[in-house]
Amino acid sequence: SIVVTGATGALGRLVVEELLKRTAPGEIVAVARDRAKAAGIEARGVRVKVADYSRPETLQGVFAAGDRALLISGNEAGQRLVQHRAVIDAAREAGVALLAYTSILGGPAATFSIAEEHLATEQALLASGVPYCLLRNGWYHENYTGALAGTLRTGAVVGSAGRGRVATAARRDYAEAAAVVLTGSGQENTVYELSGDTAWTMAEYAAEVSRQTGREIPYRDLPPERYTALLIEAGVPALGARMVAEADAGIARGELGATPGELSRLLGRPTTPIAEAITEALKELP
Ligand code: NDP
Repeated sequence: SIVVTGATGALGRLVVEELLKRTAPGEIVAVARDRAKAAGIEARGVRVKVADYSRPETLQGVFAAGDRALLISGNEAGQRLVQHRAVIDAAREAGVALLAYTSILGGPAATFSIAEEHLATEQALLASGVPYCLLRNGWYHENYTGALAGTLRTGAVVGSAGRGRVATAARRDYAEAAAVVLTGSGQENTVYELSGDTAWTMAEYAAEVSRQTGREIPYRDLPPERYTALLIEAGVPALGARMVAEADAGIARGELGATPGELSRLLGRPTTPIAEAITEALKELP
């Protein structure tokens, strides 16, 4: 089977959708911690298994010998290495044929705090001896377009990325790439640096938002401490706010700007342009 953890998350749902275009529903196993959240997936004939990364005993029986699996990184900062290790252990004990992992663009070259748990997970996966595929994903367009309502309300794009470039792609692009790897062959012990074809600056992003809305939306660059404080004011938990601002500082240093073209090569098409993602997101706004 093809096993996808985190299947009820934003990326996981898209991976399952992309797998359904390529393989029979009965071949797919969606792993969720809340079966109710997976009802729509189950209704399409996909098998659902319930497990929690934080409770290793629930991971027994998730994988079978010969499975090809995708570990989608969790979203609880500080807990993730222990959680991911538990998933890797379960996959190893079951004898999976391939375990893909959603890591971070650049791998060890990413020096901001969000990257730490990804790198430790990569090391745990390599040490496990399980055939691996590292999907080193860059940033999603949606990290920015998801904030467009606030951007339009305040009249500015705000961040700490300076003049750094970020090579974003649509979340669906990364999901499709994962589906290609999971349904392909010869993917054992591979590393992909996945990012959008075009790297843009925050000023360029603000200019495109301005163009599409017909409003004057500037980019306002803040020192990381001020950006962190602003995010906390807006309701982001302190640790998450600090991590976002630190990632922006990483972007300023060029750490999420690489455009090796590996994502479009896997997809066999160009990645989705940021302008298109802005258009789609603006349509969704009330
Ligand atoms: P989501 O937060 O939508 O999805 C995270 C998934 O992980 C959810 O399905 C969630 O389950 C699952 N999960 C979290 N904790 C556990 C647990 N203890 N046990 C079992 N499942 C768990 O994020 P995305 O899908 O958008 O992104 C996937 C991952 O990529 C993120 O978790 C994060 O690590 C990383 N990321 C990457 C970004 C990028 O720009 N490249 C941006 C943001 C995140 P449930 O559905 O029950 O909540």
